[in-house]
Amino acid sequence: MHNAVVTPMSLENKLFYHGEKVSELLETGDTTPVTWELDPTNLCNHDCIGCYAKGAGGRANNESIGLKEGKNYIDQICELNAKAISFTGGGDPMINKDTPEFIRYSKSKGLDVGMVTNGTIFSDESIDTVIKNNSWIRVSLDAGSDKVYSIIRRVPSPGPAGLDKAIKNLAKLSARKKELNSDCTIGAGFLTSELTNPDMIAATKMCRDAGIDYISFRPFHGDYTIPDDIKKCREMETDSFKVHFSEFKYDSKYTKQYTVCRGQSFSGVINVHKVFVCCHLRGVTKYELGDLRENSLSEIWHSEKRKHIVNNIDFRDCIALCKLDCVNRQLHHIRKKPQHTNFI
Ligand code: SF4
Ligand code: SF4
Repeated sequence: MHNAVVTPMSLENKLFYHGEKVSELLETGDTTPVTWELDPTNLCNHDCIGCYAKGAGGRANNESIGLKEGKNYIDQICELNAKAISFTGGGDPMINKDTPEFIRYSKSKGLDVGMVTNGTIFSDESIDTVIKNNSWIRVSLDAGSDKVYSIIRRVPSPGPAGLDKAIKNLAKLSARKKELNSDCTIGAGFLTSELTNPDMIAATKMCRDAGIDYISFRPFHGDYTIPDDIKKCREMETDSFKVHFSEFKYDSKYTKQYTVCRGQSFSGVINVHKVFVCCHLRGVTKYELGDLRENSLSEIWHSEKRKHIVNNIDFRDCIALCKLDCVNRQLHHIRKKPQHTNFI
């Protein structure tokens, strides 16, 4: 069996905090998501190599959610008893001018809020909205130099959408966090690869100097060489700045030992108007569960169509160490009921 290292970000331990939903899954075979990813737009000011939205066709439709629709989708997410929402992509959530209002509205409805962004499209006002309402924000960098940033993200850097802008905004977020005494966790994401590895140390230093909480390294899909410089990056940790490294994701030989994806029951994905099985399969027609312009989220979630699609997921379409793999492994083991469960 694959031995995952448990990190502060490990998802499998989080299941223990959602016992009712786990019980429901064990009893009925399904539950409703704890978290929803909501993509407010398929537009982006970057053009990254390997962007899901582009590759999977999501961005091809160039659609965004309107204010009224977005609030309605958030209401429906709450009605399905969710605990959290993260605004991600799709495109970059901050391209949609209504995203700050979606953030405020979600928080006012009692949801915990997160966001993944390239970090280049912030105003002072939207920075305040994030710092006041979000539990976390992660800015995808994947570079520590203008040269690599402009190759990976296919934008001029330095420039209005360049690395300098992203780092400046990280520093602003961090400064406002301190001023407002917020507990929003501010992080940066870095996908390692032959192309980006030489930038790891520079990116770590930039993030530490910007005053954010962490940088997180994981591999670009298909490039699993453990980067030599991770040790030097870790040496830059301080009490207030951490370097996360998902080492278990570098196991290129790993294959799934379970046959059913139960993790998707805990984490829903809405790409603009359409609901998909999981974040990796967003935009893939075969795994489209429904369209919110035609049916409610509850109807889509409890539909025979969804049941049929999730029961027929072809793991050849999946990434081996996908986001929910650790959740799936945990649930696979829990499903094998031990003898005398009341004796611990
Ligand atoms: S920033 Fe995100 S959404 Fe935009 S092109 Fe890059 S990967 Fe795609
Ligand atoms: S990639 Fe496959 S196994 Fe992983 S969450 Fe998506 S459907 Fe499930």
